[in-house]
Amino acid sequence: MALGFNYLENAIIIEYPNGLLRLLLLFMIIKVKNLPVPQVTCANCQACCCSLEVRIISDTGVPNRHIYIDEYGNESMLRLDDGQCSALNRDTLMCSIYENRPWVCREFEMGSYECIDERIEKL
Ligand code: SF4
Ligand code: SF4
Repeated sequence: MALGFNYLENAIIIEYPNGLLRLLLLFMIIKVKNLPVPQVTCANCQACCCSLEVRIISDTGVPNRHIYIDEYGNESMLRLDDGQCSALNRDTLMCSIYENRPWVCREFEMGSYECIDERIEKL
Protein backbone atom coordinates (compact mmCIF):
# COMPACT_ATOMS: atom_id res chain seq x y z
CA MET A 1 0.00 0.00 0.00
CA ALA A 2 1.34 3.40 -0.90
CA LEU A 3 0.46 6.53 0.88
CA GLY A 4 0.78 9.79 -0.96
CA PHE A 5 0.02 13.38 -0.23
CA ASN A 6 -1.27 15.61 -2.92
CA TYR A 7 -0.69 19.08 -1.59
CA LEU A 8 -2.06 20.77 -4.68
CA GLU A 9 -5.51 19.38 -4.07
CA ASN A 10 -5.37 19.23 -0.28
CA ALA A 11 -5.85 15.49 -0.52
CA ILE A 12 -4.37 12.24 0.72
CA ILE A 13 -4.16 9.37 -1.75
CA ILE A 14 -3.86 5.71 -0.72
CA GLU A 15 -2.95 3.21 -3.44
CA TYR A 16 -2.93 -0.59 -3.04
CA PRO A 17 -0.31 -2.74 -4.84
CA ASN A 18 -2.80 -4.20 -7.31
CA GLY A 19 -3.73 -0.69 -8.28
CA LEU A 20 -7.40 -1.50 -7.98
CA LEU A 21 -8.19 0.79 -5.18
CA ARG A 22 -7.36 4.41 -4.95
CA LEU A 23 -8.84 6.27 -2.06
CA LEU A 24 -8.98 9.99 -2.15
CA LEU A 25 -9.80 11.89 1.02
CA LEU A 26 -10.13 15.62 1.08
CA PHE A 27 -8.81 17.34 4.14
CA MET A 28 -7.82 20.74 5.33
CA ILE A 29 -4.24 21.69 6.03
CA ILE A 30 -4.08 23.93 9.06
CA LYS A 31 -0.77 25.65 9.27
CA VAL A 32 0.24 26.37 12.82
CA LYS A 33 2.91 28.94 13.36
CA ASN A 34 4.36 30.00 16.65
CA LEU A 35 3.96 33.68 16.02
CA PRO A 36 4.96 35.91 18.91
CA VAL A 37 1.86 37.54 20.43
CA PRO A 38 2.73 40.93 21.87
CA GLN A 39 1.29 41.19 25.34
CA VAL A 40 -1.29 43.90 25.79
CA THR A 41 -1.03 45.52 29.18
CA CYS A 42 -1.39 49.05 30.46
CA ALA A 43 2.27 48.85 31.48
CA ASN A 44 3.43 48.82 27.85
CA CYS A 45 0.86 51.38 26.71
CA GLN A 46 0.86 55.16 26.74
CA ALA A 47 -2.54 55.57 28.40
CA CYS A 48 -4.03 55.48 24.91
CA CYS A 49 -7.61 55.22 26.19
CA CYS A 50 -7.30 58.31 28.37
CA SER A 51 -7.73 60.66 25.43
CA LEU A 52 -11.18 59.29 24.61
CA GLU A 53 -14.26 61.25 25.53
CA VAL A 54 -15.36 59.92 28.92
CA ARG A 55 -18.93 60.76 29.84
CA ILE A 56 -19.72 60.96 33.54
CA ILE A 57 -23.03 59.17 33.96
CA SER A 58 -22.95 58.36 37.65
CA ASP A 59 -21.50 59.93 40.76
CA THR A 60 -18.23 58.23 41.58
CA GLY A 61 -16.73 61.29 43.24
CA VAL A 62 -14.76 62.74 40.34
CA PRO A 63 -13.33 66.06 41.61
CA ASN A 64 -14.98 69.10 40.00
CA ARG A 65 -11.67 70.37 38.63
CA HIS A 66 -11.58 67.39 36.25
CA ILE A 67 -15.16 67.76 35.02
CA TYR A 68 -16.15 69.49 31.79
CA ILE A 69 -19.79 70.53 31.46
CA ASP A 70 -21.08 71.27 27.97
CA GLU A 71 -23.83 73.72 26.99
CA TYR A 72 -26.46 71.03 27.53
CA GLY A 73 -25.27 70.23 31.03
CA ASN A 74 -23.63 66.94 30.06
CA GLU A 75 -20.61 66.08 32.16
CA SER A 76 -17.46 64.46 30.86
CA MET A 77 -13.84 64.24 31.91
CA LEU A 78 -11.98 67.44 31.12
CA ARG A 79 -9.29 67.02 28.49
CA LEU A 80 -6.29 69.30 28.37
CA ASP A 81 -4.54 70.77 25.32
CA ASP A 82 -2.62 67.54 24.73
CA GLY A 83 -5.94 65.74 24.34
CA GLN A 84 -5.47 63.62 27.45
CA CYS A 85 -7.78 63.50 30.45
CA SER A 86 -6.85 66.10 33.04
CA ALA A 87 -6.82 63.41 35.74
CA LEU A 88 -4.02 61.53 33.99
CA ASN A 89 -0.70 61.88 35.76
CA ARG A 90 1.57 62.95 32.88
CA ASP A 91 4.68 61.58 34.57
CA THR A 92 3.48 58.13 35.53
CA LEU A 93 0.72 57.86 32.89
CA MET A 94 -1.52 56.56 35.64
CA CYS A 95 -4.93 57.74 36.74
CA SER A 96 -4.58 60.20 39.61
CA ILE A 97 -8.19 59.65 40.71
CA TYR A 98 -8.27 55.89 40.34
CA GLU A 99 -10.60 55.30 43.31
CA ASN A 100 -13.01 57.93 41.94
CA ARG A 101 -12.65 57.32 38.22
CA PRO A 102 -15.89 57.37 36.21
CA TRP A 103 -17.92 54.27 35.51
CA VAL A 104 -16.86 54.31 31.84
CA CYS A 105 -13.21 54.01 32.86
CA ARG A 106 -14.03 51.14 35.22
CA GLU A 107 -15.75 49.27 32.42
CA PHE A 108 -13.07 49.85 29.79
CA GLU A 109 -11.36 46.52 29.55
CA MET A 110 -7.66 46.06 28.92
CA GLY A 111 -7.21 43.85 25.88
CA SER A 112 -10.71 44.53 24.60
CA TYR A 113 -11.42 45.42 20.99
CA GLU A 114 -11.65 49.10 21.94
CA CYS A 115 -8.37 48.92 23.83
CA ILE A 116 -6.55 47.30 20.90
CA ASP A 117 -8.07 49.84 18.57
CA GLU A 118 -6.76 52.75 20.62
CA ARG A 119 -3.32 51.18 20.86
CA ILE A 120 -3.13 50.63 17.10
CA GLU A 121 -4.08 54.22 16.46
CA LYS A 122 -1.94 55.91 19.08
CA LEU A 123 1.13 53.81 19.92
S1 SF4 B 1 -6.77 49.80 28.85
FE1 SF4 B 1 -5.74 49.44 26.89
S2 SF4 B 1 -5.63 51.45 25.91
FE2 SF4 B 1 -6.07 51.80 28.07
S3 SF4 B 1 -4.07 52.13 29.05
FE3 SF4 B 1 -4.56 49.94 29.24
S4 SF4 B 1 -3.62 48.96 27.44
FE4 SF4 B 1 -3.73 51.17 27.04
S1 SF4 C 1 -10.39 59.33 34.81
FE1 SF4 C 1 -8.48 58.21 34.96
S2 SF4 C 1 -8.81 56.30 33.83
FE2 SF4 C 1 -10.43 57.73 33.24
S3 SF4 C 1 -9.68 58.74 31.39
FE3 SF4 C 1 -9.10 60.00 33.14
S4 SF4 C 1 -7.05 59.36 33.69
FE4 SF4 C 1 -7.93 57.78 32.38
